[in-house]
Amino acid sequence: MQTGEPAWIERAERVVMPTYGRLPVTFVRGEGCRLWDDGGRSYLDLAAGIGCCCLGHGHPRLTEAIAAQAARLIQVSNLYCCEPMVAVAEQLCAHSFGDRVFFCNSGAEANEGAIKLARKRSRDRFGPGRYRTLAFHQSFHGRTLATLSATGQEKVWKGFEPTVEGFDFADYGDLDAVEATLTDAHCAILVEPIQGEGGIVVPPAGFLAGLRRLCDERDLTLIFDCVQTGMGRTGKLFCHQHEGVTPDVMTLAKGLGGGVPIGAIVATEAAGTVLTPGTHASTFGGNPLVCAAARVVLELLTDGGVVANAAARGAQLFDGLAVIASRNEAIREVRGRGLMVGVALDRPVAPILDRLRAAGVIALPAGAQVLRLLPPLVISEAEVAEALGAVEQALSEG
Ligand SMILES: *Cc1c(COP(=O)(O)O)cnc(C)c1O
Repeated sequence: MQTGEPAWIERAERVVMPTYGRLPVTFVRGEGCRLWDDGGRSYLDLAAGIGCCCLGHGHPRLTEAIAAQAARLIQVSNLYCCEPMVAVAEQLCAHSFGDRVFFCNSGAEANEGAIKLARKRSRDRFGPGRYRTLAFHQSFHGRTLATLSATGQEKVWKGFEPTVEGFDFADYGDLDAVEATLTDAHCAILVEPIQGEGGIVVPPAGFLAGLRRLCDERDLTLIFDCVQTGMGRTGKLFCHQHEGVTPDVMTLAKGLGGGVPIGAIVATEAAGTVLTPGTHASTFGGNPLVCAAARVVLELLTDGGVVANAAARGAQLFDGLAVIASRNEAIREVRGRGLMVGVALDRPVAPILDRLRAAGVIALPAGAQVLRLLPPLVISEAEVAEALGAVEQALSEG
């Protein structure tokens, strides 16, 4: 911080829209799972830019690839073909159910496109009138008008009504409720394999397979929103691989670029050929710069032991949290999979997060009473042990 000038946070309060209640810390540098603030203080990062920095900060391969691509070519638009985009599409298809990829810039944009895809697919095959998407209470799919309309949390859409027409909601995990809600007007089911923003909620075993069956029976497009659960976060490259269930369409963002903004829609051949020239587009989508980053992320995730590390460190984290829960009554439940962890508390999480930050540890909330941990997937055994110690200490202070 420069003396004589107001702190960045004060300057931000004057010129940046107040959409976030910004915390009183300004990060200037990162390396691995560590962040440094403008006062030179270091923090253990269990948030990873909300699950984006899967390779941690300053990963040499990632930064080298971004710098080299920036020097070579940053943007040419989708009117032309570019090597990095094709390479990432091939990597995504090689390691998933997918045959076709559309690139965009965020999770919301990916979900927006997936909703359009499902409507168009149904209209092409069955004509108008069959356009509704079934989504779930407590879900989160983004902040654009269609994706907030697909989000089953009032706080996300309140004040922006009328919401986009064509979304219905069922209780997450309840197949009977899904079946009771579906009508002849539906074309798709949109679901997070684990609900993220809604509190790290894992559905009962068989739920995703049940949705697959309902979609097959009724010719619906099954869309998995893997924006948070994807890219190794749960200890598999994609969360549904734990269950052996495949969707028709999945959406990705967050971890895909290791911190640079890139989103994607991955689809089967049948679903992935619906959006034809002129029907959908994105100016920046999959530009050479962001795809150079995603290429390295995919290489290291599929061939670099990063996903195996996420599974092993996730197991260590869950074991440690179970021990802490056994001696601290503030913990109601520990939920999630791999390095997507929710610690449901009997009290507000905000003071716990403040205490963790004061102790040099950065974590996240998921709703008012859930402590959410989304560390970089490269976190070490010693760092997980450090995280566990800090969480136990913060909880023991009331
Ligand atoms: C974060 C998130 C989104 C929105 O992603 P943005 O990149 O912020 O638009 C959508 N779905 C899920 C499941 C998410 O976690």
